[in-house]
Amino acid sequence: MEERNCFRCGRGLPPGSLFYVVHIKVFSGFDGILMEPAEGIDQQLKELLEQTQNLDPKELEKDVYEEITLIVCKSCRDRFVDEIRHPWEGPFRIQKDPNPILH
Ligand SMILES: [Zn+2]
Repeated sequence: MEERNCFRCGRGLPPGSLFYVVHIKVFSGFDGILMEPAEGIDQQLKELLEQTQNLDPKELEKDVYEEITLIVCKSCRDRFVDEIRHPWEGPFRIQKDPNPILH
């Protein structure tokens, strides 16, 4: 069996060891509201078709739906879950010290 590596810290995860799978699905939401077409629907469709023809189909698909599977070790899993639940306490913490020490 192939040894896995933690996606985040790179630690080796030998067969039989504890690891976690993070499965992320990102897809475009729809709130039921369609914008009022400014021009005729035919014109809109034509423009949309022209736009999509210039794009890579893979890129286009990613705009709508993307699925990501990551394998992480226990400590990265704990940090990951913590950051998802408390994003405001994450690495981009607001500097509270009004007088940061400069060296
Ligand atoms: Zn890790």
